[in-house]
Amino acid sequence: MSRTITENTFNFEVNATAGDARTGTLHVNGTRLKTPNLFPVMNFYAGGTENSVYGGGVHRTMKEFMIGAERVSVDPLTNYFDATMMSVSSLTDYNLTRKRFEAYLDTPIKERELFEPFEGTVFADSGGFKFLNNAEIDGSDFEEDMDQRTVYQIQKQLGSDIIVNLDHPIAPDDSHQERVKKAERTAENIHTFLSLTRDFDGAQYLTLHGYNYSMMNEYLDVITDSVPQGVLHEGFDGIALGSLVPKKDDRGALIQAVTDCREVMAEWGMEDWPLHVLGISSRAIPILAALGADSFDSSTHIHNAINGKYSHSLMDHSPIKEADFSKCDCPVCQSDHLVNWMRGNTEYKKDILGPVAMHNLIVQKRELADIRNRIQQGGEDALVDYFEETFGRDRTMRQFAHQVVNQSLGGYF
Ligand SMILES: [Zn+2]
Repeated sequence: MSRTITENTFNFEVNATAGDARTGTLHVNGTRLKTPNLFPVMNFYAGGTENSVYGGGVHRTMKEFMIGAERVSVDPLTNYFDATMMSVSSLTDYNLTRKRFEAYLDTPIKERELFEPFEGTVFADSGGFKFLNNAEIDGSDFEEDMDQRTVYQIQKQLGSDIIVNLDHPIAPDDSHQERVKKAERTAENIHTFLSLTRDFDGAQYLTLHGYNYSMMNEYLDVITDSVPQGVLHEGFDGIALGSLVPKKDDRGALIQAVTDCREVMAEWGMEDWPLHVLGISSRAIPILAALGADSFDSSTHIHNAINGKYSHSLMDHSPIKEADFSKCDCPVCQSDHLVNWMRGNTEYKKDILGPVAMHNLIVQKRELADIRNRIQQGGEDALVDYFEETFGRDRTMRQFAHQVVNQSLGGYF
């Protein structure tokens, strides 16, 4: 009975394809998200109070853009927050008291008046990558054991639309035995997760770990030893491909992982499920989209800002001090008030970097809209042109771009 309700709140439809790339719509809990798309990482709760939009330095300024706070004096930039990624583990980045932790979780994000303009899809990860070595939330006056039950409770209380099971990501130097052990422990969590989430109104994504076909296939073999394939199909709606962060700058490894993941999904009867790639940076996005990944999450817009980088495209940036803000038509660079901040005329560093991070995010989101349009045009030509324009003069990326064009977009001829 409860499954029927859940199925009604989740739907993924593919509208057009170009080679292996696809564009579609993800419907979850009344939110509508065009794919492929990017979930920017947002720390909704970062140690502060409601007055400070719950704090978080640059994250705070991003939230102010999202809700159109008076301080930034622009209209809510909700267009660029059609999706966000909230890490359950970010709650461990701030020295929270038990009281504040509970206050953060007592009302779902989108039910708070403060976040009223925000209507995007909230994806809450499980924090597996972080809890692996550090098994509890360290608060100033409490500790919370992080197991599958606690993580799900937090995901639910945040009001998440998409959630994943608690997993045990693999590391590049794990032995075969260690990887199997991690898959077995993840399988136990999946078992618990499925029994807890029967009434969850949203989408449940299954974490998948591995760098190539045989690793992912074996992972699913181990999982289905304790959770039968039929139960996996009944309980999950999508795949979240993890463990790739250590390989995020290794384009060859990313191409292999996503290509093989699509193949494994097809063989396990999951080809119609959306595929999310966890934690992958902006420069790899066009390649992953061309291979058929449907969504990604990233905090590169913030990291680039913190490193003094102002984006011109997914590939190019210049130092903030050399940026010509008048060349950008985004709402941030169009605001004299915010340009003044970006030039350094403000008391706080977060207010210099926040608008830059917002501009960087807008650049990424606009390029994804361009990629979607090109897939939508039918045939591979428009997307091949994008690859040529984007990577043609980039020596480090060109060979990978050619590989993707040849492998998934029908080649140049
Ligand atoms: Zn701009």
